Amino acid sequence: MEAIWLYQFRLIVIGDSTVGKSCLIRRFTEGRFAQVSDPTVGVDFFSRLVEIEPGKRIKLQIWDTAGQERFRSITRAYYRNSVGGLLLFDITNRRSFQNVHDWLEEARSHVQPHSIVFLLVGHKCDLESQRQVTRQEAEKLAGTYQMRYIETSARDAINVEHAFTELTRDIFALVRSGDITIQEGWEGVKSGFVPNVVHSSEEVTKSDRRCLC
Ligand code: GDP
Ligand code: MG
Repeated sequence: MEAIWLYQFRLIVIGDSTVGKSCLIRRFTEGRFAQVSDPTVGVDFFSRLVEIEPGKRIKLQIWDTAGQERFRSITRAYYRNSVGGLLLFDITNRRSFQNVHDWLEEARSHVQPHSIVFLLVGHKCDLESQRQVTRQEAEKLAGTYQMRYIETSARDAINVEHAFTELTRDIFALVRSGDITIQEGWEGVKSGFVPNVVHSSEEVTKSDRRCLC
């Protein structure tokens, strides 16, 4: 029987306030561009399935920092229970690019003993005329951290699917190769389940779960 999803990956989205994190997540999970004007305090989470190969689905659980973007206000648990992350800056805001290093350091200091697979995202690429960070310098920075670099726009739906799918594929490859393993008490990666009887995804209950690994 076909699994609903093979694995669940928990992802975080970090970067300076107003770079567009919430809009990017909403574009990906809800398919629309919502002006997010009322950031809630706390952590919001969203989820969506992605098909990385025909019949191979991964459930992404995506956490948004929801207005707590000041350094060190984000809890350790937020980082340490994530397997992947999108590190956003706004291509029209040079300061947000300069802060990428600090965000990475912050994440790395909190995530031990695990590590997070990061993707560097230059967001708001629809605002080309206001660009303050070139693609070349962003690619260079990503290269020094061994990260991929992708430019996105939530407004015009550019590369949004691509960004999440590429990151998911990279993590999946590391899970397959055994570089990332499922661990008890860690929320980063969970194995999926095969339902016994499935009429709709809502009807999959705890008792239907059967570990695939
Ligand atoms: P966050 O603080 O990082 O979560 O940022 P938000 O998602 O709340 O977005 C901050 C502002 O940037 C809002 O005014 C959005 O409408 C705007 N914004 C977000 N994504 C884009 C985009 O792709 N293009 C443009 N032009 N504006 C965007
Ligand atoms: Mg936000």
